[in-house]
Amino acid sequence: MLSSTNQNQKPITTMINDKGNLQIGGCDLVELADKYGTPLYVLDEETIRAICNDYKKAFSAYPKTNIMYASKALCTMALSSILDSEGLGFDTVSGGEIYTVYKAGVDMSKVLFNGNNKSYEELELAIDLGVGRISADNFYELALLNTIAQSKNKHVDILLRITPGIECHTHEYIQTGHLDSKFGFDLSQIDEAVELIQTEYTNLRIHGLHAHIGSQIFETSIYADEIDIICREISRLNKQFGLNLNEINIGGGIGVKYTDEDQPPSVYEIGHIVVNKLNECIKKYSIEPPALFLEPGRSIISTSGVTLYTIGSSKQVPQGKKYVSVDGGMADNPRPSLYDAKYFAQVVNKKEDTEKEKVTICGRYCESGDILIKDVTLPVLEEGDVLCVYNTGAYNYSMAYNYNRVPRPAMVLVRDSKSDIVVSRESYDDLLVHDIIPDRLK
Ligand SMILES: *Cc1c(COP(=O)(O)O)cnc(C)c1O
Repeated sequence: MLSSTNQNQKPITTMINDKGNLQIGGCDLVELADKYGTPLYVLDEETIRAICNDYKKAFSAYPKTNIMYASKALCTMALSSILDSEGLGFDTVSGGEIYTVYKAGVDMSKVLFNGNNKSYEELELAIDLGVGRISADNFYELALLNTIAQSKNKHVDILLRITPGIECHTHEYIQTGHLDSKFGFDLSQIDEAVELIQTEYTNLRIHGLHAHIGSQIFETSIYADEIDIICREISRLNKQFGLNLNEINIGGGIGVKYTDEDQPPSVYEIGHIVVNKLNECIKKYSIEPPALFLEPGRSIISTSGVTLYTIGSSKQVPQGKKYVSVDGGMADNPRPSLYDAKYFAQVVNKKEDTEKEKVTICGRYCESGDILIKDVTLPVLEEGDVLCVYNTGAYNYSMAYNYNRVPRPAMVLVRDSKSDIVVSRESYDDLLVHDIIPDRLK
C-alpha cells in the first residue's frame, strides 16, 4: 500500500542545509526565527498540497467523493484559499469559520455547517451566505432551522448528524461516535426527526446522513462499520418514508504521527477500505450510489505545521528534572495540557550527534501544567537556541488563546525558499482592542 503524507512526522521538505540548520520549504528555520520572531508557526505549502493529492488519488475509484476540510483544525484565509485551489470543500462549526472561508472567496455551496449548538445568528448567517449543507444535530435545531427558513421564505438543505454507536480507541475527549455522546441523533431518534421534517418542518430538505466517530484514529475497520450503518439507515429511510437520500458523510478523524509510537494509517488504505465497503453496501442494501463526503481536519494540516520557539531560562531541580523554558507554551499549543498530547521536537541550530541530555520542555505561562514535552532527550540546550516542535499544524493556532495577556504568534507559509506572513503577530494594542473603560471610572 502506498504511504501518505500524514504518516510523516515532519513536513516533507524538512532537511538539514549547508549551514547545518534545519530548513523547511527551502527556508532556514534559524533565519525565519530571526526575521519574524518566536514563537512562530510555520506552514509548509508543499506538504499541504501533497496530502490533498493523496486524498484525491486515494478516493479516485469513487468519483462521487467530496473532501471537505474540517476548518476547526486550522482556519485562516490563506489556508482556505490553498485548499479551495486544491478543490476541497469546507466543514465549518461556527459563524467565525463560515465568515473566514467566505472572505477567502470560497464557493459557499461547498461549505457544510456542523455543531451541536449552533445559534440563531449563526444559522441565519449560514443561510444568508448560501452554505451548501447544514448538518442538523438535534430536535431543537430542526425547529430553529425551520423557523429561520420560513421567515426568509427559503428552503434549507440538510443532513442529519447521527451517532452510529461505534467506539474507537482514542482519547475520551476526542471520541464522538459512541452512543453516550453530546453530538447527533441517536439511531432510535432518526425516524421521529424524519417524520417531523415531512410533516411540520417543510422548509427543510433532507439529503442524507452524517456521522463523525472521533479523532486521531488509527483503526481502519471503524470506517467500514460506520459506512455499513449509514447505508443501512439510508436504505431503510428511503423505503419507509419514500425519500431519496443520496449523500453520506463519514466525518474525519484519520490520525497523524506525533511521536514514533503513532502508526497512523495510509490515506490510500482508508480509500481502499471505504470505497470497497461502500460499493459492497450499495449492493447489499440496494441503494443508488450516494455522494460520499469526508471531513479530514488533522490529517490535512497537522504534518505541514511546526512551531519555532526560542530557548530561555532553565532550571535543574536538585536530584530532579531539568526544566528548559521556551517563549511560548500552553496558550499557543493547548493540546499537551488539555489531552496530555505528546510532541516530537528537534533543535534547529544543533547537530543531532552533539552531546545530549534529558530535559522537560516547559512553557512561559503561569501554570505548573504548562509543560510542552516531558522527558525528552535533546542536544544540550542553551539560551537563544531555536526549538522546532513538529506536527503543530492542527489544533494549535485554532485553539490558541491569550492567557497571561501574551499576544498570539505569527504564522508564515513557506515554499520554494520564500516565506510569507499569513497571520501577523498580535501586538499589545491588539490585546486592548475590545477593552473599554466606562466614562464613570475615568
Ligand atoms: C472535528 C471534526 C472533524 C475533523 O476531525 P479530524 O480528526 O481533525 O480529522 C470532522 N467532522 C466533524 C463533524 C468534526 O467534529
